[in-house]
Amino acid sequence: MTAIAADTFAIRYGSKTINFDLVFMSRKTLEISVYPDLSVVVKAPEGKSIDEVKERVRSKAAWIVEQKRFFSLYLPRPPKRQYVSGESHYYLGRQYRLKVIASDKEQVKLSRGCLYVHTSDFHNSCQIKKLLQNWYSNHAKVQFYRRMEKCLPRMGKHLKEKPELTIRKMKTRWGSCSRNSRIILNSHLIKAPTPCIDYVICHELCHLIHPNHSKAFYRLLAQSMPDWQNNKKRLEDVKL
Ligand SMILES: [Zn+2]
Repeated sequence: MTAIAADTFAIRYGSKTINFDLVFMSRKTLEISVYPDLSVVVKAPEGKSIDEVKERVRSKAAWIVEQKRFFSLYLPRPPKRQYVSGESHYYLGRQYRLKVIASDKEQVKLSRGCLYVHTSDFHNSCQIKKLLQNWYSNHAKVQFYRRMEKCLPRMGKHLKEKPELTIRKMKTRWGSCSRNSRIILNSHLIKAPTPCIDYVICHELCHLIHPNHSKAFYRLLAQSMPDWQNNKKRLEDVKL
């Protein structure tokens, strides 16, 4: 398995999980930073193994937890979703207003900037959430296959066989891949703009050829998607 786009890893510390983004660069020392948005970024010298990096993060875990606790005091909390009319929801990078409509048909429709949920159970946020999640996962299936078809020609002759696609909810990764030519995409990715979806797909397609983040990997990524860095940046700001 290889990591994603942002290349997120995690370690356990007591009852806590510490997620961190890992970037390999040509530098001598390893640096751990905690940002006000509570993200943890590790810059590691090229050639260090993931196990070594995890060990270093583990040795700094108490400090990381304290930094995060400090920053969390100042963090504007995103409101938890209520699944009521007026709320913002995202699809392919666009913001839509949720409208819940009493109806004898259970269905979800996207139309003119709004996401309409028709349901007889219109006071039941669980039912609305369930209808929306089904709608998202159905659309993820259609869109991800479509995007994969668009991305495959970008790989030129490098890929010998067409990879299988699996869609699944993941907590810390946008995508991953496995040796048997399978790409796994996070279903939440359907909320991101299309170029970001393409970026995650291209990133994972490149991993089918180069499993690690080697120079050859980045060379192939840049060939298949010259503007990948922009799309990666946009992906970091995606609202779920
Ligand atoms: Zn990767």
